[in-house]
Amino acid sequence: LGLGEERAKVDRMFGLMDQFLKNDPITLQNDILRHVEYTVARSRFSFDDFEAYQALAHSVRDRLIERWHDTQVHFKRKDPKRIYFLSLEYLMGRFLSNSVINLGIRDQYADALSQLGFEFEVLAEQEGDAALGNGGLARLSACQIDSLATLDYPALGYGLRYQYGLYRQVILDGYQHEQPYYWLNFGNPWEIERIHVTYPVKFYGTVEEEDFNGGKRQVWVPKETVEAVAYDNPIPGYGTRNTITLRLWAAKPSDQNDMESYNTGDYIDAVVNRRTAETISSILYPDDRSHQGKELRLKQQYFFVSASLQDIIRRFKDAHSNFDDFPEKVALQLNDTHPSLAIVEVMRVLIDEEHLSWSRAWDIVCKIFSFTTHTVLPEGLEKIPVDLLESLLPRHLQIIYDINFNFIEKLKKRIGLDYDRLSRMSIVEEGAAKSIRMANLSIVCSHTVNGVSKIHAELLKTRVFKDFYELWPHKFHYKTNGVTQRRWIVVSNPSLCALISKWLGTEAWIRNLDLLAGLQEYATNADLHQEWKMVRKVNKMRLAEYIETMSGVKVSVDAMFDVQIKRIHEYKRQFLNILGIIHRYDCIKNMEKNDRRNVVPRVCIIGGKAAPGYEIAKKIIKLCHAVAEKINNDPDVDDLLKLVFIPDYNVSVAELVIPGADLSQHISTAGHEASGTGSMKFLMNGCLLLATADGSTIEIIEEIGADNMFLFGAKVNEVPVLREKGPALKVPLQFARVVRMVRNGYFGFEDYFKSLCDSVEVGNDFYLLGSDFESYLEAQAAADMAFVDQEKWTQMSILSMAGSGRFSSDRTIEEYAEKTWGIEPCRCPF
Ligand code: PLP
Repeated sequence: LGLGEERAKVDRMFGLMDQFLKNDPITLQNDILRHVEYTVARSRFSFDDFEAYQALAHSVRDRLIERWHDTQVHFKRKDPKRIYFLSLEYLMGRFLSNSVINLGIRDQYADALSQLGFEFEVLAEQEGDAALGNGGLARLSACQIDSLATLDYPALGYGLRYQYGLYRQVILDGYQHEQPYYWLNFGNPWEIERIHVTYPVKFYGTVEEEDFNGGKRQVWVPKETVEAVAYDNPIPGYGTRNTITLRLWAAKPSDQNDMESYNTGDYIDAVVNRRTAETISSILYPDDRSHQGKELRLKQQYFFVSASLQDIIRRFKDAHSNFDDFPEKVALQLNDTHPSLAIVEVMRVLIDEEHLSWSRAWDIVCKIFSFTTHTVLPEGLEKIPVDLLESLLPRHLQIIYDINFNFIEKLKKRIGLDYDRLSRMSIVEEGAAKSIRMANLSIVCSHTVNGVSKIHAELLKTRVFKDFYELWPHKFHYKTNGVTQRRWIVVSNPSLCALISKWLGTEAWIRNLDLLAGLQEYATNADLHQEWKMVRKVNKMRLAEYIETMSGVKVSVDAMFDVQIKRIHEYKRQFLNILGIIHRYDCIKNMEKNDRRNVVPRVCIIGGKAAPGYEIAKKIIKLCHAVAEKINNDPDVDDLLKLVFIPDYNVSVAELVIPGADLSQHISTAGHEASGTGSMKFLMNGCLLLATADGSTIEIIEEIGADNMFLFGAKVNEVPVLREKGPALKVPLQFARVVRMVRNGYFGFEDYFKSLCDSVEVGNDFYLLGSDFESYLEAQAAADMAFVDQEKWTQMSILSMAGSGRFSSDRTIEEYAEKTWGIEPCRCPF
């Protein structure tokens, strides 16, 4: 269509607005029943809860699609600069509740369903989690996508549609076992397969020289092709019609492969071989520590990057002919180094396919990429072996060498022949096994390098990327992470949500979390205290029920619910928590019966997955179970102390646990947690924090004050000094005693726990459990004292939530939009 005709068509479409689906109970019921009959293909007189959920999800999806189409048309019409968010992981959780809340039709659906004899909450429980990520980084992508939609930014998230999401954690006899999570088994109503949005992605082959414009040029002759098919997940904003796209790529075999095998008559083998193409997007790597040197991982990265960039460049070329305009229309955000091959791919496409000169292509690349790193330690930085790259992506390797050559030449002019520094900063790591340092590549080629909290940025500047910071101080910034209050209050804690709106007299805080500060003035109000305690008690009852179903352990809601849920890592120090619990148990056992009356009852809740190959983390899980077995069956402690491990921690479990927690622990060794976002979710729900001054906790202290939390432990700058002391480090007697209890088999399995105990012996205790133990116990004692005074506790709880405004991902995204990406909102005009 010509431009005029196209515009007239779009105008006609906007004129048909009143034909959109209605949300009155009769229409909703009709829609649900229609989907029961025609989509799920069950009789509308006989269907179960799961089928009802499917029909419900499809009727919500219809409404999402309307808004999504409008948004895409609007973006196309306005042609704003867009942000493309590249992340290999998204931990989305469930879609249903979040979607109806963001669409503003939850209550209408609940009414419509109840008239049909169904309960919305029961149907919502039928949905499995979309767990396409490991932990904090992946959940951050999900929160940021929600904020991008809510704030009307012209954004598109790209990722991979793994067939196997993060493994299911199954506990047998206290040991973790991993079970594949084939999450698509029962269909996924939240995605739309776009078979016409398909791109070929190429691998392997050789680079050859050919004549070009009177000179020579390098061309890549790839050997294998895989098709990338788009699956679009509409992401609705809250309080806006804007609904943006999360586009996930799935690998499918290409018709272009294996002609030879077909021709030789080896039909069966050829078809079987084609299936291997699908393995590229089949499985999420389950380790959030490092990814080094696996061919499949590299294939995943390039597959994702190549498909996304073909899509982005196609969209740009639909409206523009000059690549010099590219930086005016495109911002590319690298979520850690996992998508950093995008830099090289843009260079390759611009030079080899669009025939731009090196310098023009380089100029464009330097304007479009921003890089956020989530790493704290140099060991965590991703490296790709050169031989792998050479075989899989030979042309890309050449381009990386060229980028590096130019960079090092310029660097020599700036810093002279300081070979140590030159070799530290080089993108190529020399040595027996040469490799490409993806972080160095990302820093060299991005206009901005962001950390994820204030302290993280300091560590990047002074330790991890010190050389680069000295060279380009202007590139280094930070945007403290945030989380979305839509999922983490409105969806997961509806009664708290209603209470906040009532006391603030508005729901505006759902789009502007700073308004929570308005609750500070009621922090001592007796009426609010009463309502607050009631809301908390109901949430605790819900959690207590869940605990009993999962573990068979009955817990009292009058006890303090003390929670640590996150990935299991030595640096996150779940072991410290368990040793603290053993100490508490030991103290209760050694008390006179009368004194036990003064003990504050605790329910200690631990949950989290260990990476499959992470032995020590798995031992921590087993220890938790062994200690729980002992404590929970000891009549001496009875209700004074319980320990439960919540299996298979994921987003849905977090939504249930966080609103019911009184105290939550974020106790990493200072300097090891880049940000941490779990703490923010607890804070927003009025849970008090027991924490070290690490990651974003340092900024939480600034917002709510140290008096409203329980802080302990060595500070970031003290940690290296303590480590220096090695065997001379002072460790309290209580610590030695509790470690000895584990070592000597008080909880059984002494052989199995030996290496765990060794890891915290003096001289070996890298994460400083021993030297932080005393102050940890003091912080725990302070928490007990505060809990006894319930009015004081409630006041601290109100002030925690009232001070959480800064930790909304809306604030994070606004900072990125303004300071890093240079994009403006583009709101659908209805
Ligand atoms: N995993 C899940 C399922 C989460 O919901 C979160 C955050 O809430 C995290 C991991 C990250 O937690 P943390 O920042 O405490 O490590």
